[in-house]
Amino acid sequence: MPAPTTLTDTIAAISTPPGRGGIGIVRLSGPQAASIASQLVRLRHPLEQLEHAHARLADVLEAGDDDATRIDEALITFFAAPRSYTAEDLIEIATHGSPVVLELLLRRALQLGARLAEPGEFTQRAFLSGRLDLTQAEAVRDLIDAQTLTQARQAASQMGGALSHRIAPMKQALVDLVALLEAGIDFAEDDVDVTRQQEIARRIAELTPPLAALEASFARGRIVHDGLTLAIVGRPNAGKSSLFNRLVERDRAIVTATPGTTRDLVTERISIGGIPIELVDTAGLREGSPQSLSGSFAGSLDEVEQLGIARSREALADAALVLIVLDATQPLNDEEHRLLAAVVGRPAIVAVNKSDLVEWARSESLGVPGINLGTPGPSHLGTGESSAAGPTGSQTPAERSLPPVVATSALTGDGIAALREKILALATGGAAAEPGLLTNLRQHQAVTTALAALADAATANAAAIPHEMILLDLYRALWALDSLTGQTTPDDILNLIFSTFCIGK
Ligand code: GDP
Repeated sequence: MPAPTTLTDTIAAISTPPGRGGIGIVRLSGPQAASIASQLVRLRHPLEQLEHAHARLADVLEAGDDDATRIDEALITFFAAPRSYTAEDLIEIATHGSPVVLELLLRRALQLGARLAEPGEFTQRAFLSGRLDLTQAEAVRDLIDAQTLTQARQAASQMGGALSHRIAPMKQALVDLVALLEAGIDFAEDDVDVTRQQEIARRIAELTPPLAALEASFARGRIVHDGLTLAIVGRPNAGKSSLFNRLVERDRAIVTATPGTTRDLVTERISIGGIPIELVDTAGLREGSPQSLSGSFAGSLDEVEQLGIARSREALADAALVLIVLDATQPLNDEEHRLLAAVVGRPAIVAVNKSDLVEWARSESLGVPGINLGTPGPSHLGTGESSAAGPTGSQTPAERSLPPVVATSALTGDGIAALREKILALATGGAAAEPGLLTNLRQHQAVTTALAALADAATANAAAIPHEMILLDLYRALWALDSLTGQTTPDDILNLIFSTFCIGK
């Protein structure tokens, strides 16, 4: 956990990732940054002065004295307080990316009075100096951690203050309301003022929808930030591994023509529409009763296979999304019926795979676009991208909530693009991209608390409870909104947040 920042000491760290690279950077921030740096390197042109935001060519010295050996050359950039990342004097020494040189520089900086920076301490200083609020500081970390361009965009937007800007008017409205009530208290002992009560109710009612919308934005913000897990389930040989590979676009899972080969869970992280999705290829779900197993793979299940099935069920339970893979050439079996029934109401997609092997025209002529869950047995599979249920007119509400169906061929690649689209639609749940999303649990909790406090205030106001009590609720809401941007976040929580950053940032 970061040590309490005193802001009077100078911190130093290697800011580039560990290991060799073309360039490596040592960063110094604090009042002694420039004086320490001047002993670490010698400017190539001694008459030059360090100037804000100008890079200077310098020699990295092995020791401090005049005839010390030069072991590298560097570019040294000075950022004068307060126009730096930390709002303090800040120096960046960019050398060739040799860990030996970087470590030497860092060690010497520490000998010369700098302190080793804690993880995230540069950003923490930017926060403490008021240059960034907490949502912006969190966005710096998110940007560094981003795995997809969409994540990076979202982080960049938050870093630019999108979330802070969204909150600002709500906070202002809350402050105004508090001021109204505080003023009322000064007049004290008045009779209950009906118009004042109505005014309070009106203002709370006005404030609630934007706050609720902000809370709801977490649905998308969380998905973009954290991604989702998609479990691929279905009977052995339906083509789960082949579809998995199609989605991953390289041969990660082993594909064989023998049922039940994907015994363990194979996972791979992919990006669909910028949303990170963890694909989990599960062992084929098999029915418990041997007599219901068909064809070549009837018989006893070995232990490994059993374990695989158990894991599949776990994966199925844990995953946010489920992709059920059916074999277009096979009738639905009981296990598949159970599987389809189990995902009713859950975000799921049915891929009717091996579509290259069936005569879609035939099933179309049946006039049943979809899967008839009511009658197990042959002629159950339909075509296209319909819902996995019977004819639209006769659908029960439960059937209407059945998963969308996509015809795929892992062999030819047909339907894979449609499958990706369906996965994306399901992942985002239709939640639109908007500026200023909530992206983490901390932020979400702050808004939830503010909303609850506001609801309490509305109830209290409706019951004509004294304003002092309503004010307590309103202050609670205000405190929660302030904690979002870090104004009222306790130090230990702040330290915890910054400790999740990388060193040198
Ligand atoms: P899993 O047991 O469900 O993971 O199934 P696999 O992906 O291992 O596939 C089983 C067999 O079906 C393999 O021989 C695949 O080449 C074949 N297969 C998979 N998908 C398709 C498809 O869309 N069309 C055809 N014709 N064969 C497929």
